[in-house]
Amino acid sequence: MNIADKRVVSIHYTLTAADGELIDRSAEGEPLVYLHGAGNLIPGLESELTGKGAGDALKVVVAPEQGYGMPSDDLVQRVPREAFGGVEDLQAGMRFEATDQQGNAHPVVIQEIEGDEVVVNGNHPLAGHTLHFDVTIAEVREATAEELEHGHAHADGQHHH
Ligand code: ZN
Repeated sequence: MNIADKRVVSIHYTLTAADGELIDRSAEGEPLVYLHGAGNLIPGLESELTGKGAGDALKVVVAPEQGYGMPSDDLVQRVPREAFGGVEDLQAGMRFEATDQQGNAHPVVIQEIEGDEVVVNGNHPLAGHTLHFDVTIAEVREATAEELEHGHAHADGQHHH
């Protein structure tokens, strides 16, 4: 069975930066399982997987525009230190979830602390990076009705969200 929309795909992958540094990889024996065509993968990787089948291996280079986008200055904001009132020993590099006006959570990292102001950066850590994927496709199957309804895969029948 080939990879197409409404199918659930299991892949083993290694993600490296342009300089070869390892960024992320699927755990040994635990492939990433996703629903194809539902926007669950970055576009540049998902499009290259379409039509491939179990056992296929491929290398995919994804430009930032087809990956996590380019970093935006609009996502770097200064907030008063009081906003972190409950946090002791606030330091650059700490990660938090910020909630926007629509109630959606966004991960942010503290970029730096300047006196009473904290600079938070909401850009994805991989924004602006060219991504090098080494992918092996482990399995392709039809999605269940429930998976299609939810818009994501349920690994091994487990409902994990
Ligand atoms: Zn679900």
